[in-house]
Amino acid sequence: MNEITLMEKIISLAKRRGFIFPGSEIYGGLAGTYDYGPFGVALKNNLKDLWWRMFVDEHDDMYGVDATILMNPKVWETSGHISGFTDPLIECEKCKHRFRADHVQTKPKKDEEGNILKGEEVWVCEHCGAKNDTKDPQQFNMMFKTHAGASEDASTVYLRPETAAGIFMNYKNIIDSIHPKFPFGIAQIGKAFRNEIAPRDFIFRLREFEQMEVEYFIKPDEWEQTFEKWRAVMHQYARAIGIQKNDLHELEVPPDDRAHYSQRTIDFEFDYPFGRKELWGLAYRTDFDLSAHEKESGVELKQLDEATKEKFTPHVIEPSLGVDRTVLATLLSAYRQDEVGGDARIYLALPSVIAPIKAMVSPLLKNKPELVAKAKEVRKELQKVHPAIAWDDNGNIGKRYRRQDEIGTPYCITIDFDTLGEKPELKDTVTLRHRDTGEQERLTTQEVATRIRESLS
Ligand code: ATP
Repeated sequence: MNEITLMEKIISLAKRRGFIFPGSEIYGGLAGTYDYGPFGVALKNNLKDLWWRMFVDEHDDMYGVDATILMNPKVWETSGHISGFTDPLIECEKCKHRFRADHVQTKPKKDEEGNILKGEEVWVCEHCGAKNDTKDPQQFNMMFKTHAGASEDASTVYLRPETAAGIFMNYKNIIDSIHPKFPFGIAQIGKAFRNEIAPRDFIFRLREFEQMEVEYFIKPDEWEQTFEKWRAVMHQYARAIGIQKNDLHELEVPPDDRAHYSQRTIDFEFDYPFGRKELWGLAYRTDFDLSAHEKESGVELKQLDEATKEKFTPHVIEPSLGVDRTVLATLLSAYRQDEVGGDARIYLALPSVIAPIKAMVSPLLKNKPELVAKAKEVRKELQKVHPAIAWDDNGNIGKRYRRQDEIGTPYCITIDFDTLGEKPELKDTVTLRHRDTGEQERLTTQEVATRIRESLS
């Protein structure tokens, strides 16, 4: 499939089927913002729930927090974000459009005869096509500023650019209230804001997005094994949400490209239609954050090593996953086109555990009360397995199946006259249709319930 078209198809499906809409669209939108519709929010919640299960609930040493977006600005001074959370910015001299300097392609500058001028470069503006001389970029801080309090000189506060800081702010609270044994980790899912110079590629680069982050606190000599542990969990999560092994690549980030706090970073990159780019990150943050916060706040954050009776500042391993990029990679991984019964169709091969709807129940005809009553009864039974069992009695059965295919519903269940006993041997059986193959089989409601339960485990 043509890769550019694939992206357009995903954006169109996301809008048409109620997954994702451009933010404040009737006013022309707002760059870098998207809203999630009914199926989008369900998909997103399922991705977050599964993450919580795999990164928190399945570990005895993980604790959750939900910290505020607004924090004391000292947090950002200390973390280095006020001075260092910048992107290099360049401006087109002709149209004044602004770009991230590391995102534009430079080429050697030539004189009028076409000879290359040594040491001089130009870049071409993506917006107006003008050629610009390459100059040193300006450093642009990506944090959104706002004010807390009603007075004119109310203090400047920032919308958090990452959720990690909220975890560090609660590190001592968790120690004092829960008394965890080392090593242990704290997890958080929440919004983050970055004033990206050039938000782009649908929900890939946003100005408002969500992150799922863990800070795992260890003794310094445990960092390598802990790094490997979380690396494996990230791969397991990728498999569970349907990301193909060959679409995911690890990039060992070279020292010069790492964030200021990191001593080792692996970027988990995904093959998006617009190129291989970061999906998630895994970083060894050393004791950068706790040491810096201890120094600035004057509050001791060191721990006693029970074995040696010496105090140490915990080091940190951080798996950091963007929710929106995960949604995008999931949709791209699930998108399929094929033919069923000679008709072209689109479907999303989403794993059941993240599919917005787990199954759809339908009476063959909506004007036959006995079929409707039986179908309602079946739906109620299946909702004991999972509440996200949809009802659809609109249009013909083929159309109902297509609608569910496009939102990735793994099973459709149809109640017909045989269910009611027209053929006595089929009484109380229903038709179960499989999304990926279009195949149908005849099963009892209890057998269907078992299938759904198994698909979710
Ligand atoms: P990039 O290099 O693409 O700007 P980053 O390295 O700055 O990303 P991190 O600071 O490591 O990103 O943030 C952790 C995760 O948060 C990323 O792996 C990504 O999934 C997500 N993320 C970061 N910036 C954005 C954004 N602007 N829009 C959507 N998700 C983002």
